[in-house]
Amino acid sequence: MTARPPWFDEVLAVYAWADEQVRLHAPICTISGRCCRFRDYGHNLFLSQLEASVLFLGAPFQVNHSQQFDDTGCPYQINGRCEARESRPLACRIYFCDPAFQDAMPAIIEEGIRKLKQIADTHGTGWSYSPLHHFLDNRYPAHETIPLLREPTPCDDSTSRRPLPLL
Ligand code: SF4
Repeated sequence: MTARPPWFDEVLAVYAWADEQVRLHAPICTISGRCCRFRDYGHNLFLSQLEASVLFLGAPFQVNHSQQFDDTGCPYQINGRCEARESRPLACRIYFCDPAFQDAMPAIIEEGIRKLKQIADTHGTGWSYSPLHHFLDNRYPAHETIPLLREPTPCDDSTSRRPLPLL
């Protein structure tokens, strides 16, 4: 079993903070599933490599990263519902269609990203921020920035391929 990274619970704490911010605004979700069908509705899900790790490690099933992914949608949406609710990324927690919530969303997501960057800085993980399919699909370099999804070996040189933190 793959070990959880040391910052795993810190990312979950940011998610708990975001959930609370959303709860205070009480936006309405009609379970349309639009938020997870990116191409159909003209948006995309961006996330950091920390969030990608938490998503993949915490999801109830493993995605086959050797298959090809694109920006159509999310493989964790099944029959219109998210099957990875506990480990879903920050944007999934904050994005709602409810028009009454649109003005509040940007400030919550910006603060959440700031908190995640702080975790990345504290743990020296570097920072990679890309569309979901870049982490799902091992054709993209972003896939290689996901820490601790592979068992480290004595010859593991993954640290040398991590991006430098943004200044
Ligand atoms: S992780 Fe869940 S909420 Fe986020 S895009 Fe995928 S199915 Fe939707």
